[in-house]
Amino acid sequence: MRKVLVTGGAGFVGSHLCERLLSEGCEVISLDNYFTGDKRNIVHLIDHPYFEVVRHDVTTPYLVEVDEIYNLACPASPVHYQYNPIKTVKTSVMGAINMLGLAKRIKAKILQASTSEVYGDPQVHPQTEDYWGHVNPIGRRSCYDEGKRCAETLFMDYHIQNDVRIKIIRIFNTYGPRMHPNDGRVISNFIIQALQGNDITIYGDGSQTRSFQYVDDLVEGMIRMMRTDDNVIGPINIGNPGEFTIKELASMVIEMTGSKSKIINLPKPTDDPTQRQPDIGKAKEMLDGWEPQVPLKNGLEKTITYFENLLKSGNFDTW
Ligand code: NAD
Ligand code: UDP
Repeated sequence: MRKVLVTGGAGFVGSHLCERLLSEGCEVISLDNYFTGDKRNIVHLIDHPYFEVVRHDVTTPYLVEVDEIYNLACPASPVHYQYNPIKTVKTSVMGAINMLGLAKRIKAKILQASTSEVYGDPQVHPQTEDYWGHVNPIGRRSCYDEGKRCAETLFMDYHIQNDVRIKIIRIFNTYGPRMHPNDGRVISNFIIQALQGNDITIYGDGSQTRSFQYVDDLVEGMIRMMRTDDNVIGPINIGNPGEFTIKELASMVIEMTGSKSKIINLPKPTDDPTQRQPDIGKAKEMLDGWEPQVPLKNGLEKTITYFENLLKSGNFDTW
């Protein structure tokens, strides 16, 4: 039985990953400090005999014997990562050092959840892994972007210097059930605004683009990446190449929810990337033909249902 440590296990992506790993017969430890994660994301797994929950902050070392480490601990939405930017950098950098140190000591394989944000506001479109990016080192998004870039550097250096078996994936905008309702990301914002009949807030004129990936497709890509041979280290883009303007997304959400909400335009945040789309050629080649299976419309349906139920449950305000 493979023993797996998932940092950030109580978060949106982490909770889906824990669920999937357990269903495949792994023993899973979720490590989380609950900054943006929530025990309610994993409460349905608690009775599983091979699931363990640890409250811990990755900025301090943690020792355990496992075969694989998925390093996801880090707030992912601009609202949350900008709340305490110094802590965000510490989480990415010291978290990477601590988890890489652990992987080195116990000879575990370790996967880093990196991000399309390493490309910044990209001048190459779609983004390929060999593009070095266009990142402002001192802007509002830098704590996240530069923290994640430094984590990639650390992963490569631990690999080169200490032979640690590493895997780096660059995740593009991912959505689905268990996104934090107040994290301000565009899909959760639009769905909740539409369901509550509030104004749909488009930042800027809505011509900026994103490519949205459903969480199950991401988890499949992560698992396949972890299983590759040791010579496959990445970075590899994991995302859905279907590219939409934010305006198009707003119209889809309004139509699918049958909402009477109206669209309003608010100022666009500084350094907000203008366009983003993954080139997934490398993922298809290296991950056994992996490609996203869930079109945006189907994924939105599932996510709308999740937020409808959350609103009905009465738990919404306590999240
Ligand atoms: P999330 O905020 O839901 O999950 C992050 C988890 O990490 C939370 O449970 C949080 O409590 C935990 N955490 C934060 N700081 C910690 C610390 N110091 N110690 C221990 N735990 C800590 O976000 P998510 O969307 O699930 O993202 C998971 C990972 O995937 C992140 O590393 C993120 O950067 C990466 N990623 C996500 C996306 C996306 O669109 N969701 C895109 C690119 C990269
Ligand atoms: N956005 C928006 N309205 C919102 C939230 C976000 O128009 O209520 C825009 C945001 O400015 C960005 C895009 O949607 O251009 C995606 O934002 P998100 O925070 O989801 O992800 P990221 O910017 O990190 O890719």
